[in-house]
Amino acid sequence: MMQDEHIPQEDLVLYAMQAMRSHELAAVRAHLDRCAECRETLAEVNGDLALVAVSVEQKPLPEGARERFIARMASGTSQPSASGSSPVSIDSRRPARRAAAWIGWLAAAASLLFAFSLQQKVQSLNDELARQQKAAAQQAQENSRAKQVLDVLTAPTANRVLLTAAKAKPEPTGRAVYLAESGGLVFQANDLGQLAQDKAYELWVIPANGQAPIPAGVFRPDAAGSASVLMPPLPKGVPAKAFGVTIEKAEGSATPTTPIILVGAVASTGE
Ligand SMILES: [Zn+2]
Repeated sequence: MMQDEHIPQEDLVLYAMQAMRSHELAAVRAHLDRCAECRETLAEVNGDLALVAVSVEQKPLPEGARERFIARMASGTSQPSASGSSPVSIDSRRPARRAAAWIGWLAAAASLLFAFSLQQKVQSLNDELARQQKAAAQQAQENSRAKQVLDVLTAPTANRVLLTAAKAKPEPTGRAVYLAESGGLVFQANDLGQLAQDKAYELWVIPANGQAPIPAGVFRPDAAGSASVLMPPLPKGVPAKAFGVTIEKAEGSATPTTPIILVGAVASTGE
């Protein structure tokens, strides 16, 4: 019979899964070279395997694909043993083919599991990516807000106006905003007197624990008497009792050498 000469579908499945032994492989390849019908069947098998692998994600299997696949596997093993007229040598060893069918099933199950776990991995990576993108967007928004605040504080063209009791004469003032836990400090001063070229103002953090003042930046006022110190390098976790400003040499000093001209105590938190 002509049908017996063709490659059984279960062997085509093995071939498609690259699970075929090398000595069988040559015979199958030789037959495929000259048989268009078997090539067509192989294309269908390949298509079904691809559909099964792809369909593991969200989509259900296409209508009947699983049944066709299973039916082919089943019909392959239940066919009567091929006669000696087959030109394909693999048809002559029945027990080996039964084992091969199981290997085919194992290979199919393994490829399904692999596709499924791959899909899970991709999904978890996608989730992680989405989470990070959200966090990054939030961070960018916070950074943008912080930058706007800093831009206003530091813009040379910004109006720096101190409101005082009416009719009071403007005096030098400074405002420090300090976050002890991170050592973050933003300082701004107004109505500072001009200094000689070799002098500068120096800002000090006066620790609450009574230790020596910590230098927190050297600055010179602009023509209007304004100046800023932004985020000078400071140790973290040093609660401040007060802030002070002295006049020091232009490059700054490690300890205050002149009387404090501006001072402000940290308001008690009412402990
Ligand atoms: Zn054929």
